[in-house]
Amino acid sequence: MKEEKKPSRKPLIFYYFVALLVWGLFNTLLAPSLFGTRVEEVTYNFLLEQVEAGNVTQVVMENDRYLFSALDESGKEHLYKTGLWPDYSELTEQLREAGVAFGGTIPAKNNPLITTLLSCVISLLPILLLGVFMSNMMKKRMGGAMGNAMSFGKSNAKVYVEAQTGKTFTDVAGQDEAKEALTEIVDFLHNPQKYADIGANLPKGALLVGPPGTGKTLLAKAVAGEAQVPFFSISGSEFVEMFVGMGAAKVRDLFQQAGEKAPCIVFIDEIDTIGKKRESNMGGNDEREQTLNQLLTEMDGFDGRKGVVILAATNRPETLDKALLRPGRFDRRIPVELPDLKGREAILKVHGKNVRLDSTVDFNAIARATSGASGAELANIINEGALRAVRQGRTTVNQSDLEESVEVVIAGYQRKGAVISEHEKQIIAYHEIGHALVAARQTESAPVHKITIIPRTSGALGYTMQVEEGEKVLMTREEGFNKIATLTGGRAAEELIFCSITSGASNDIEQATKMARAMITRYGMSRNFDMMALETVTNPYLGADTTLSCSPDTAAKIDEEVNEMIRSAHEKAIGILKENTDKLHELARYLIEKETITGEEFMEILNG
Ligand code: ADP
Ligand code: MG
Ligand code: ZN
Repeated sequence: MKEEKKPSRKPLIFYYFVALLVWGLFNTLLAPSLFGTRVEEVTYNFLLEQVEAGNVTQVVMENDRYLFSALDESGKEHLYKTGLWPDYSELTEQLREAGVAFGGTIPAKNNPLITTLLSCVISLLPILLLGVFMSNMMKKRMGGAMGNAMSFGKSNAKVYVEAQTGKTFTDVAGQDEAKEALTEIVDFLHNPQKYADIGANLPKGALLVGPPGTGKTLLAKAVAGEAQVPFFSISGSEFVEMFVGMGAAKVRDLFQQAGEKAPCIVFIDEIDTIGKKRESNMGGNDEREQTLNQLLTEMDGFDGRKGVVILAATNRPETLDKALLRPGRFDRRIPVELPDLKGREAILKVHGKNVRLDSTVDFNAIARATSGASGAELANIINEGALRAVRQGRTTVNQSDLEESVEVVIAGYQRKGAVISEHEKQIIAYHEIGHALVAARQTESAPVHKITIIPRTSGALGYTMQVEEGEKVLMTREEGFNKIATLTGGRAAEELIFCSITSGASNDIEQATKMARAMITRYGMSRNFDMMALETVTNPYLGADTTLSCSPDTAAKIDEEVNEMIRSAHEKAIGILKENTDKLHELARYLIEKETITGEEFMEILNG
C-alpha cells in the first residue's frame, strides 16, 4: 500500500550545521585545487635541483618546512613543500646567488580563514550537537510542532505540491458513482472557460465521505491525475500539531499558492480534525477554531471561476461544523461507500494486475467471501496472497493463497504451534459443527463455505465461514433471527454433548446481542415497539456506535426483549441439534480428523 510522501521537516539548526560542514570540507579539500594552490610535497633534493636549474622564484621557511614556488618548462608556477634539512647555510648562499626571494614566516597554516572557520566549527560542535539533540527532544514532546515552527515560512512553499500524482480513474475500482460525480470537476479543471462563458458556477468544494480504506484519498489523487493539474494536499492533523496561530497562517499560505497555480486542486485529508463543530461554550480548542475560521474565510474569499477546486475527505461527516457544509463551501457531498460484490471483484482485478496469477484464481469467489471488506483490505488480501506464494517457493499466486489470505485478514494467521488438548479439540469441533448444522438446517441462511478448528492469532480457536450466494442489501426479520440462532448453535452443541458450557462462545454472544439490539432498536422488528427509533447511530462509518434515545423505562424493556429474542433463538438451535445428533457426531468426528473441511464435504456428509 502506498502512502503519501510526507515532506521532511528538519529543524533549521540542522541545515545550518550541514552548511557549516560543507563549507569546511569545501575549503580544506576542494578550494585549493580549484584555485590552483595545491601544494605538492617533494624531497629536499628536488628543491636544490630546482634552485640550481634557476626555476625557483620564492622560498619561504616555516617552522617545520620550506614552502617554495618554481616554474616548470612551460613557465607555469607550482607550489611545493619539503621538510627542513640542516645545511641552511649552503642553500642560503645558493638562493642569494640565484637572486631568489627567501625568508621565514610567522608560523601559520596556509589559509588562515579556513583555519579559523574550522576551529570555530570544532569548538562549536558540542554546542551544535546539543542543539540538534534538544530540538529533536522537543519535537518528540510537542508532536512535531517545533519542526513545523522552525521551518515555517514562504521558503518551504513547495511542501504541498505533488506535481504528478500518477493516479487515474482506472486505479480506482468499484466507485462508479463517485467517479461520475468527479468527472465534472475534471472537465471543469480542463476547461474553466467553458463554464465561465455560460455563467455556470461549479461547486467550490466537494466532500468525499465514507468509511476508512474505501479510496477517498486515492480518488482525490486520481482527479488531479486525470485533470493533469497541480495537487496541493495537506492533512487536517498537520494543522493541529502546530503552534498557536500557525494553522491559520498555513491555510492562508496554502490558498495563496493555490491561487497562483490555478487551475489546481487543493485536497484537505481528514478534514474532521480541523472541521469539528465549534463549541459555543468556553474551553473550546481555540487554535482549531482559528484554523477553521481561516479556512471558511478563504473558501468564501476566492473566485470559484478561477479553477481552484477544493476536495476534502472524512470518515466522520457527522462531526463536521455545519458552516463547512453551507452552499458555496463543501456543498457537494460524494459518498464513497464500502464496495458491493461487483465492486469488490473489480478492486481485486485492479490489484491483481500487479501480481502474477495462475488459472485457478476466481476473483468472484473471493469477492463473495469478503462482504464488508474495504478496498484497502482487498488490496491487502492480494498482497498477503502473493507473500504466501513466495513463502511457499512458487512463482504464481493461486486461489488457495487468496483464500488463506482472506482468512488471515478476517481472523489472523494460523497458530501452528498452539497446543490444544484432545478434549478441548473435541469441544471446539462440536461447537463449530453446531454453528454449521444450525445454519444448514434453516432456510434463510447463507451456505456454509468452510469449517476449521485450526487456531488463529486473533484468538479464534476455530470458525465456520458462511458465504452468501449473491449480494444482499436488505435483511428480513426471519434472516436476522436465524442469524442469531446460528450464532447460538456453537454453545448449544456444547450443552447438548458435554452437558457443560465454556468461554468459547464469547464472540458469538457479542455478535448475537448486537444483532438482536439492532433489530429491536433500529430496524423496528420488535414485538413491543412499533416503528420507533430507540437508538441512533452516531458514527455510521466508524464502528457505528449508537446512543440510546429513549427513557430509562424503555431501555429496561429493550433489554428484556433482547434477552427474550436471543433465548428463543437459542432454544431453536438446541431443537435443531437434538433432531440431528447423529449428524452432529459424524461431522464433528470428521472435522477432528481433518481439522479443516469445505462446504461441499460438509453438505455431502449431511445429505448422504
Ligand atoms: P481512504 O482515504 O478512503 O481511507 P485510501 O484512498 O487511502 O482510503 O485507500 C488505501 C488504499 O486501498 C489505496 O491506496 C488502494 O491501494 C486501496 N483502495 C482503496 N479503495 C480502492 C478502490 N476503490 N479501488 C482500488 N484500490 C482501492
Ligand atoms: Mg485517506
Ligand atoms: Zn462460536
